[in-house]
Amino acid sequence: MNIVIFGPPGAGKGTQSSYIVKKFGLHQLSTGELLRKEIKDKSKLGQEISSIINSGNLVSDEIVGNLIEKYTANKVYKNRLIFDGYPRNLPQARNLNFLLEKSDQKINLVLKLSVSLESIKKRISERKNLEKRADDSEEIAIKRYATYENNIKTVIDFYKQSNLLKVVNGEGSISEISSEISGIIEGIKG
Ligand code: AMP
Repeated sequence: MNIVIFGPPGAGKGTQSSYIVKKFGLHQLSTGELLRKEIKDKSKLGQEISSIINSGNLVSDEIVGNLIEKYTANKVYKNRLIFDGYPRNLPQARNLNFLLEKSDQKINLVLKLSVSLESIKKRISERKNLEKRADDSEEIAIKRYATYENNIKTVIDFYKQSNLLKVVNGEGSISEISSEISGIIEGIKG
């Protein structure tokens, strides 16, 4: 199966994706991680996108689309991808369907982690000390939360139409959230 997971920055997408990867043998595809790797490697693309990411804005649909196509087109990952942080707007959601259809795949489940801005601010300040991400200041976190909110409504409506969306309360402990997600996935697998 292929799963999409989304939520505001700091919602725990990465943590929960890693859990799903271990438990269900999927492959985690985090566009944020792929983009940070480009910056770390100082590639041409990395130099182009670092100021966009560090200001809390979204990188262009074309750039992230090209990154994910490498995975959707690769047989090794067929029907075992978890999309962490993609799609983030309606054109990306449509593009993902298009790319998956091209390789005879589809999305089986969309998980939305709901977390309030207050909790996000707290989590981001804790994560800043651990991960040292350049975009983890409170100011940029607020900007990233706003970017998320502005773009995600159309994505939610898109997936509601196809009955794929499950909303998970992302305010609980990591293990509470993991077990809720696990139950949802088991239910889908039947
Ligand atoms: P994340 O690790 O998912 O929080 O992503 C970190 C940053 O990478 C975001 O704030 C965006 O600037 C960029 N980014 C990640 N995924 C996408 C995407 N699907 N579309 C555009 N920009 C993205």
